[in-house]
Amino acid sequence: MQNYVKPKCTNKTGSWRSQKPVVNKEKCIGCGTCERSCPDMAVKVVDGKAVVDYDYCKGCGICANECPVKCIQMKPEKE
Ligand code: SF4
Ligand code: SF4
Repeated sequence: MQNYVKPKCTNKTGSWRSQKPVVNKEKCIGCGTCERSCPDMAVKVVDGKAVVDYDYCKGCGICANECPVKCIQMKPEKE
């Protein structure tokens, strides 16, 4: 992913997910709340929009809960 800084941990946790966060980039205001609240450093604001690294996101849903404009939706991993 362009301009994306990988988390410093080496253990990928993406396979733990049953749900994944999907960002509505049109609604995202780039506030960084998701970035600050993610326990896995798996979401970052890049060029003013939140970008999820699915190699590390474990689908806990904290980012979706904390987003002030509710632009992160948790969706089933397998649809
Ligand atoms: S908390 Fe929501 S609005 Fe803020 S950067 Fe993250 S996705 Fe965008
Ligand atoms: S669902 Fe959890 S692990 Fe994944 S980006 Fe959001 S806060 Fe981070």
